Amino acid sequence: MEQRDPPRGERIFTGPMSDVGACPRCGGPVTKPPDEAAGYICAWHGEVPPLQPFRHPDAELLESSARDSREPFWVLWPPPAGWVVTGVGRVGERAEAVRATVVALGGPNPLGGAGELLIVAEEPGIGLGARYAGLLGPDPGVRFGIGAPDGRVLTDGHPTPLWYVETAPDRAAYAGEAAGRWLWLIFHPGTAGTLLVENLELADARVLGPEVRQLSFGALTPRVTEQLDEPRRPDLF
Ligand SMILES: [Zn+2]
Repeated sequence: MEQRDPPRGERIFTGPMSDVGACPRCGGPVTKPPDEAAGYICAWHGEVPPLQPFRHPDAELLESSARDSREPFWVLWPPPAGWVVTGVGRVGERAEAVRATVVALGGPNPLGGAGELLIVAEEPGIGLGARYAGLLGPDPGVRFGIGAPDGRVLTDGHPTPLWYVETAPDRAAYAGEAAGRWLWLIFHPGTAGTLLVENLELADARVLGPEVRQLSFGALTPRVTEQLDEPRRPDLF
């Protein structure tokens, strides 16, 4: 891809992700300076760990991605009827350097039509979950954890409280902490968030190992490569 630094504010991110990856915070392309020691650079966010390019999701990809990862890959487990995995991604070049993961799923919305769910696990400050939620900042915000939780899921059998995160009206986002990491659940459309009251159970694909072959897989969802809309771009960071 073209190796130039655009003037701030110029819209250049119109194509698909570059083949070296994308910025986890905005989905824009990253560039790799020739200097081996240098990291990947987003024109807006500076040096970032790269979100790796997405491939067609299948059991082999999930199993191999999870095998050596230091971050969990959360999946709905046991596999709910009608739900398929539609994306598996990670932030970080190598498994031992993974900073965030995402698993996307598609299935029936309990209130009718189709629903989608993105499950993100990440270190604080990476911003992948916040971006999928449609937020500028990298973390859930100051209201996180205040008051009674708005939902609860099981993560590897542990009850995990979640708080609603105010975000774009076309989705519903919840955040919590699991295994010492941020856990984000982002539902499309927002009404699919009613799945939460159905006692969602998540399991870490690292723990499941070859059992992930019991999951169904579908076509890669464009949700995982969505970029933040122009008006919400952090041009003034
Ligand atoms: Zn960025």
